[in-house]
Amino acid sequence: MNENQDLANEVLHAYEKKIFDLKQLLEISKSLSSTLDYNILMDSILFTCMGQMQVLKIGLFTKKAIDHDYFSLHRNYKGFEIDHTIDCTIPEKSALTAFLADHHRCFTMPELLNKTEKVAELKLFTILEPTLIVPLIIKGAVNGIIILGDRIDGVAFKEEEKDYLMDISTFASIAIQNAFLFEMTTTDMMTKLKLRHFFFANLIEHQEISLSKGIPVSVIMLDIDHFKKLNDTYGHTFGDIVLKQISAIVRNSIRRIDIAARYGGEEFIILLPGVEAAEAMEVAERIRKAIEATIFKNGEVDVTSTISLGVAQFDKNRDLTSEDLIKRADKALYVSKETGRN
Ligand code: GH3
Ligand code: MG
Ligand code: MG
Repeated sequence: MNENQDLANEVLHAYEKKIFDLKQLLEISKSLSSTLDYNILMDSILFTCMGQMQVLKIGLFTKKAIDHDYFSLHRNYKGFEIDHTIDCTIPEKSALTAFLADHHRCFTMPELLNKTEKVAELKLFTILEPTLIVPLIIKGAVNGIIILGDRIDGVAFKEEEKDYLMDISTFASIAIQNAFLFEMTTTDMMTKLKLRHFFFANLIEHQEISLSKGIPVSVIMLDIDHFKKLNDTYGHTFGDIVLKQISAIVRNSIRRIDIAARYGGEEFIILLPGVEAAEAMEVAERIRKAIEATIFKNGEVDVTSTISLGVAQFDKNRDLTSEDLIKRADKALYVSKETGRN
């Protein structure tokens, strides 16, 4: 009788655990699918795995930019010690990713070394020494790899925990794919700046925040000077190179929360949430100087270029729509052009 009771309790306990895990998975799925922001998503995946598996050391290999064909280690994170002299990337298409996609399961390092001795990408893992390697697989291909260190309590990962991690990894890979597709459809592939429609959607949102909370928001409009002449002198292909490099300077001159978009051919616009006009002027000046100081190499010939800029801060009394604000920034840009450019 007692034995039966014990067995019943055990089964009951196992079912309760199963229900708890399923509820957790549902929450994880909701949480991971609720963001399309790449950086937030990366952190979210890492925190989820850390919490669920009780580990301190964790890392996530995934593409950092839409035009990358390799995974970089998301290292916004304490955990795996990274030697900056080693290349911490894994090619998207490699023997390792092919192997992981084929097997669709977690691996410990000894298991992986046993099965795939000659895989070059394993060298990185032998340096990082993860306890468990979890592939993220979507449509038969790997789009990320999670690496975990030991559990805090030192106990080895159980088989059901590995299965549970693979369930989480399924949600993570779908969420990464969604964020990736969103990034693609909102980015100008030539300049890697955001597209106009994405910019306007965000501008409208920030104007509303400004109205309700009184938080300032500014925009910078910028246009390359005499770009037609540059094209005519050095050719359109070189013009494209300059355009891409100037775009990269703009991208690297702003914060993560700012949004730089390609407004038209050689015209860009930047959204600066929480920033007043005076500070936006400083940002604009920083970009202007950076571009003025850049030498664009056309073979042996050194080419320089300048830009003109206009700044405007959202003013609820003057800007009834987002177009009104843009018009004021454009007017300021026009003044820059008229008074000598650069
Ligand atoms: P301003 O100083 O008044 O702005 O003169 P500008 O020559 O830059 O202005 P304009 O509007 O007359 O010419 C813009 C030029 O930018 C013309 C167009 O061919 C070039 N352009 C626009 N988009 C691209 C592009 O994607 N690649 C290249 N190479 N050129 C482009
Ligand atoms: Mg121009
Ligand atoms: Mg123009």
